[in-house]
Amino acid sequence: MNIDLHIHSTESDGSLTPAQIVASARHLGIQAISITDHDTVSGVKNALGVSRTLGVGCVSGVEVSAAAPPLFDIPGSLHILGYGMDPDHPGLNGMLGRLLKARLERFPKMIEKLNALHIPVSYDSARAFAGKAPVSRPHIAQAMVAAGAVASVDEAFARYLANGKPAYVDRYRIGLEEVISTVSEAGGVCVLAHPGLIRMKSGKTIEELIRRLAQMGIKGIEAYYPEHSLEQTRFFVSLADTLGLVVTGGTDFHGAVRPEIALGSGRGDFSVPADLWERLTGLLPGNRFVSPPQRNEGA
Ligand code: AMP
Ligand code: MN
Ligand code: MN
Ligand code: MN
Repeated sequence: MNIDLHIHSTESDGSLTPAQIVASARHLGIQAISITDHDTVSGVKNALGVSRTLGVGCVSGVEVSAAAPPLFDIPGSLHILGYGMDPDHPGLNGMLGRLLKARLERFPKMIEKLNALHIPVSYDSARAFAGKAPVSRPHIAQAMVAAGAVASVDEAFARYLANGKPAYVDRYRIGLEEVISTVSEAGGVCVLAHPGLIRMKSGKTIEELIRRLAQMGIKGIEAYYPEHSLEQTRFFVSLADTLGLVVTGGTDFHGAVRPEIALGSGRGDFSVPADLWERLTGLLPGNRFVSPPQRNEGA
């Protein structure tokens, strides 16, 4: 019995719609899911609705790119998962709206940089890959592959789009305090995403960072993640225990954008224990944006 609480849909940079993800979860026997699109909750209501129909557990979700506390000197963003927010909460939508506006300003600049490097890719061609979602770097990477400028999405990131590469433009980030308070005002809780991927230039340890985040109001750690070693997972589970935090987990499924990662099972050898669902939703009593799994029903 497993769950998957970190999933991207066509509302951000994934390739399946929220409804397709829920149907796929049911088919695979995954008990509960959360769709955690980048900086948007636009797929949440649809996911909750289809989940209720199909009997798959579901909690509203989001993955926000936050600015890390400065002392830790973390390049790029700290990814914060939010669970249980009201997707119609005005404060939450105001904050996410600022991120969307910044995104719409950032990508034309990246296209300009690529064009200056003689890469024949247009904003419209990236938009075609984005569908109705806002453009993000994987969509630009897909347009670059289609234009024959690079052989793969990975190559597009490695040579041009990754932080520090020639077409990279830094993004606008919301401070962690505001992310935590806004998610909380919207009825949700924050969890630190994939801590094993965090790199710090300050020489401080990941334990120091997580202790600081716990003081700031983070309620959980995503200990189960396909890129984490067994040792890392054990370490984060034990640290969560020490600090009174919950543990969550998910695959970071993106569909065809990252075909090597499967829903619920990552590279095939991965699973998130289903009992973590009870711990997480135990923090959200009476929450209207939690839909429990229906038991005694075969997939
Ligand atoms: P954006 O939010 O537009 O900056 O795009 C970030 C997204 O790009 C992440 O959520 C990942 O899905 C994807 N991504 C980041 N780095 C890489 C990489 N090195 N290779 C492939 N995809 C990446
Ligand atoms: Mn992504
Ligand atoms: Mn992330
Ligand atoms: Mn993610």
